[in-house]
Amino acid sequence: DSSSGSSGFFSKRTFPGRVPAGIGRKSLRIVVTGGAGFVGSHLVDKLISRGDEVIVIDNFFTGRKENLVHLFGNPRFELIRHDVVEPILLEVDQIYHLACPASPVHYKYNPTNVMGTLNMLGLAKRVGARFLLTSTSEVYGDPLEHPQKETYWGNVNPIGERSCYDEGKRTAETLTMDYHRGADVEVRIARIFNTYGPRMCLDDGRVVSNFVAQVIRKQPMTVYGDGKQTRSFQYVSDLVDGLVALMEGEHVGPFNLGNPGEFTMLELAEVVKETIDSSATIEFKPNTADDPHKRKPDISKAKELLNWEPRISLREGLPLMVNDFRNRILNGDEGKGL
Ligand code: NAD
Ligand code: UDP
Ligand code: UDP
Repeated sequence: DSSSGSSGFFSKRTFPGRVPAGIGRKSLRIVVTGGAGFVGSHLVDKLISRGDEVIVIDNFFTGRKENLVHLFGNPRFELIRHDVVEPILLEVDQIYHLACPASPVHYKYNPTNVMGTLNMLGLAKRVGARFLLTSTSEVYGDPLEHPQKETYWGNVNPIGERSCYDEGKRTAETLTMDYHRGADVEVRIARIFNTYGPRMCLDDGRVVSNFVAQVIRKQPMTVYGDGKQTRSFQYVSDLVDGLVALMEGEHVGPFNLGNPGEFTMLELAEVVKETIDSSATIEFKPNTADDPHKRKPDISKAKELLNWEPRISLREGLPLMVNDFRNRILNGDEGKGL
């Protein structure tokens, strides 16, 4: 078993038992941390379908086995229950590092962004793997520049309620660049803007999942504050294409990956209403402190250097998640970790 342990057995890019990925390309062995989560599971589907071997590391904090159950039994797929805060030995070509308590209700609970990222960078260094960090638009904080370019350094309150996530990802970016400059690790950094789609957590409080679930349950959509704050919503398959283009390309980044279409929360509520139920209503709730007023990616850099741009608009993407949400709500599966 080439995946067990000591670097003495390790030989870069010549693992025994390698399955061919198709004509003209050798299959890769790829780790996806957080692969049982929303974005991770869609990424894993894409990597498996193109013929690669995928090892998912996940502690099921917010991820679910259900997101991957269709791959159980596939010889090119492996799922390891593991917390990336602890070291791990594997022999791989690429690491997509997504593990992260990614939503406001979860992210304050653990040091994944720092310790988990350090361990995955240590792993990348030891085996010579390429490492991709999924950072976030939240590194721009409540931005004073609009739309946000990658050159903007951000406006983050270091002691605010949201800062554990923002500063955690900023630190993860710093560690990533330090390993790149100091230890020659091949790295890639994606700054992901708000993303939605099937398999999103039902209970983690993000706005698209909240509105869609509320309307399906015949509850009012909860608009925080005056609802005039803006976000840009990207469909998950566009993001996955962008992550793979970034990993396979020659540029370190950071790259904004997001859909530049900008909506107020009131406009989003209107689109959800049109998509699911024309009798849907809204109710206003107080907003959280330090909520960014606007957010919209400038994606010129990714367009030019990765030849990537999103293809699915909010009106096209929203209907694609409704059936998944309806089924999970009807089955009483509230999307909690296992
Ligand atoms: P998610 O919560 O669905 O997925 C995160 C996964 O990481 C889960 O499966 C969870 O169980 C796992 N995880 C958390 N802590 C872990 C640990 N210590 N060890 C092992 N596994 C752990 O969230 P997502 O939306 O799929 O986000 C994936 C990545 O993309 C995250 O890094 C997130 O910060 C980033 N991102 C997402 C968005 C978005 O809108 N979805 C926006 C910006 C950035
Ligand atoms: N690490 C890991 N798997 C590996 C190699 C390293 O989990 O295959 C962890 C290691 O335990 C350490 C971190 O990654 O906590 C950083 O490793 P590095 O070698 O860069 O640092 P050092 O061990 O020299 O402090
Ligand atoms: N929001 C809202 N109603 C909800 C959940 C969130 O109006 O039920 C607002 C929230 O205040 C923020 C925006 O929607 O202004 C996006 O929130 P989310 O947590 O989805 O993403 P993030 O703030 O990380 O961009």
